[in-house]
Amino acid sequence: WVKESGRAGFRFDVPRRDVDLLSRMRLDHAMRQALEFGQFRLSFQPQVEVGSRRVIGAEALLRWRDPVRGEIAPADFIPLAEQSGFIVPLGDWVLREAVMQAAEWLRQGLRMPIAVNVSALQFQQPQFIEGVAAALRMAGLPPGLLELELTESVLVGDADECLRRMRALASLGVALSIDDFGTGYSSLAYLKRFPIQRLKIDRSFVQGLPGDASDAGIVNAIVQVGRALNLQVIAEGVEREAQRDFLARAGCHEFQGYLYAPPLTAAEFEERVRPRRAVEDDAPASGWLGL
Ligand code: C2E
Ligand code: MG
Ligand code: MG
Ligand code: MG
Repeated sequence: WVKESGRAGFRFDVPRRDVDLLSRMRLDHAMRQALEFGQFRLSFQPQVEVGSRRVIGAEALLRWRDPVRGEIAPADFIPLAEQSGFIVPLGDWVLREAVMQAAEWLRQGLRMPIAVNVSALQFQQPQFIEGVAAALRMAGLPPGLLELELTESVLVGDADECLRRMRALASLGVALSIDDFGTGYSSLAYLKRFPIQRLKIDRSFVQGLPGDASDAGIVNAIVQVGRALNLQVIAEGVEREAQRDFLARAGCHEFQGYLYAPPLTAAEFEERVRPRRAVEDDAPASGWLGL
C-alpha cells in the first residue's frame, strides 16, 4: 500500500475509512477524558439590542482545549459527540455549568438571561426535562433566565412528542428559541404551534448583507414571520456596521456577532457589561441591578 505519487515521493495509502474510524475513536475517547479532567469550558457571547447596544443576554458556547491538540472547535467535535451519544452527558454538563454561571451572576447583581444550545439527541432523552428542572433548582436560578436553543433537527420526527416536551419546558418557565433558523427543514406550521419566544437568523444569511439580494430578502422575510407570530428575532454572526444597519432598517432588534464581541470568558463578559461612566456610550446600565 505504498504508492508512488509523482515527484513528491511516496504516499501511504492506508484505507481511508479505517483512518477516519480510528481518529474518530481517539477523539471520542479524548472527549470523555476531557470531561472527566475538566478540560471543557464555556464562553459567553453577548446578545445585544441593535439600537441601544444594551446587552440583553449571553449565549453559552462550549470550548475544549486539549493539552496536546490545542483548541478544538465545536464544529470538529460536536457532530462526533452527537453520533456517539456523548453529547448527552456533555450537554448535561453545559446546561448545569451555564445555569450555575447565570445564578452566580445574579448573586453578584448581574441579571443576565443565558442561552444554551441543545442537541436533538439530548432533547429526546426521557430525563431531559427533569434534568433542566433539577439544574435550575440546584443552582437557584429563576427559570425565566434560561433559554434553550433548539435547532430545526429537534423538530423533525414525532411532532406531537416534541410539542409535549416543549410545552413541559415552557411550563417550567424556560424560554425556547430556534437556532440557525432557515437552514433546516423549516415548516411554518410548527412555528405557529410550538411555544417558542425567539428565532435566531443563521449567520449564513447575515453574511451577504446588505448587498446580496437573496440574503436581504430572506432576512426581511424571517423578520416578517417573527413579527406575524409575535416572536423576537435575533441575527447571529454580525461582523460589520453595514450588516447591523440593514438589520435595524429591517426591524430586527437584536444581534450577536464579532461587531459587538466574540464569545468571552465569564470575567471578560462581566467586564464588558459593567456600568461605565456616562461619557462612554458603550453598554450602559445593562443587566446590573445597581448593587
Ligand atoms: P451556534 O449555536 O449557531 O453558535 C454560533 C457560532 O457562531 C459560534 O461558533 C460563535 O462563536 C460563532 N460566531 C459568533 N459571532 C460570530 C461572528 O460575528 N462571525 C463568525 N464568523 N462567527 C461568529 P462556535 O462556538 O464555534 O460553535 C459552533 C456551533 O457548535 C454552534 O453554533 C452550535 O451549533 C455548536 N455548539 C457550541 N456549543 C455547544 C453546546 O454547548 N452544545 C451543543 N449541542 N452545541 C454547541
Ligand atoms: Mg446557538
Ligand atoms: Mg446559531
Ligand atoms: Mg449558526
